[in-house]
Amino acid sequence: MADSTVTIVGGGVQGVHLAIRLLEAGLVPRSALQIIEPDGILGGFRRKCRQCGMTELRSPFVHHVDSDPFSLRDFARSCGRETELVSSSVGADRPTVSLFFDHAEACCERYDLENLVIDAAATDIGDAGDHVEIETTAGVYTARWCLLAVGHGRSYTMPTWARDRPEAPVTHVWDQEYDPAALEEVASVGVVGGGITAAQVATSLVRPGRDVTLFARSPFTVESLEADTDWMHFSGALADLHDLPPASSARAQLVRRARYDGAMPPHVFRRLRRALDEGAVTLERTEITALTATGGPVVVSCQNGRALCLDHVICATGFDSPYDGPLFRALREGTTLQTGHRGAPVLEDETLRWRRADGSLSQLIVTGAPAQQVLGPFARNVIGARRAGTLICDLLEEAENASEPSSVRV
Ligand SMILES: Cc1cc2nc3c(=O)[nH]c(=O)nc-3n(C[C@H](O)[C@H](O)[C@H](O)COP(=O)(O)OP(=O)(O)OC[C@H]3O[C@@H](n4cnc5c(N)ncnc54)[C@H](O)[C@@H]3O)c2cc1C
Repeated sequence: MADSTVTIVGGGVQGVHLAIRLLEAGLVPRSALQIIEPDGILGGFRRKCRQCGMTELRSPFVHHVDSDPFSLRDFARSCGRETELVSSSVGADRPTVSLFFDHAEACCERYDLENLVIDAAATDIGDAGDHVEIETTAGVYTARWCLLAVGHGRSYTMPTWARDRPEAPVTHVWDQEYDPAALEEVASVGVVGGGITAAQVATSLVRPGRDVTLFARSPFTVESLEADTDWMHFSGALADLHDLPPASSARAQLVRRARYDGAMPPHVFRRLRRALDEGAVTLERTEITALTATGGPVVVSCQNGRALCLDHVICATGFDSPYDGPLFRALREGTTLQTGHRGAPVLEDETLRWRRADGSLSQLIVTGAPAQQVLGPFARNVIGARRAGTLICDLLEEAENASEPSSVRV
């Protein structure tokens, strides 16, 4: 008998939403649900928001961890915090980061999710037929179903000149150790990147007497959302995606073309424009090609021939492939689970279950960014978590009704 019916690996936005959906639907009793998360519930997302200086969510107030879309608005009203729903020139109002997290915390308390958390990181997962064996830093746990909700699994892109430079003050904005508060005394900062994160980091680091330089090689692009709203309905556009072979380069290309990667929403662009106009941020329209450490500040050499001396360099150069985190690599190497183009998991489109090499379906279900070849460009977003929640609830309900060997039981 397994330790749990469902174990969710990752207690971020996706993991929390899935836990709430399963408990609310009564598909899993509390005693049969576990969440494996080393960073505290929502800790990773909270840290990222702080690290990039984000003040408001990009998505509208109906996108949050709870199941009822209006729950955040009702929460704001009940605490007299309606002003934290920031009006938007396009689309619905967006919540401030603090409202989003206070509401999320209230949802977690309502379901007492903290008490379901195993404070550990999953290091490997074994496919054991009708159950899975999850190796973690705190021991091995078995589960009838395992929902993988690890986001990008700490895999992000670093320019070659910035890699393996422990001697130099250069960090990636998503480095666990990066703390913007530690830069208070720093007089000159370089921010590398041209998208939403780079713009947020650059504007949030503006202080009197500090030089902030933004290194962006391409023109800025502005889009309200990460992709066309057609993809949010998980119907027409998604049907075209599902017509292509699973985990194929064709699917990867379609998703890549659909995502407005590197674009920033109008409210972030306005803030950046103002900072540039006021001279609080300087734009270098070029690429850094080399970095020389001097023991104190660093010298960066640029493609346009310029060289600048900076106290600290922050790379806001995005995430790497969602299939390249340590857990996905371990799964690729240690199981017969099928992978395709660049290691993408081969998932069943209707259920998100990971297929084995022989075509049968495992008890492993993938959500978030690594499920983008099934859920499309919004897979990683809150709206993607909602869609995954619906598919997974349907699957578990069906399994319970069918009472097959793989059905839900403790
Ligand atoms: C700054 C920022 C702002 C964003 N704003 C929005 C927005 O406004 N609207 C929107 O819809 N989306 C937004 N997104 C996209 C956002 O990533 C998702 O909405 C959400 O965070 C994704 O949830 P997730 O659970 O997949 O990933 P995460 O929130 O990153 O959570 C993954 C969790 O898995 C854990 N984990 C990783 N590896 C392991 C392991 N081996 N074992 C156990 N646990 C593990 C991590 O510690 C983490 O807590 C934003 C993203 C960023 C970075």
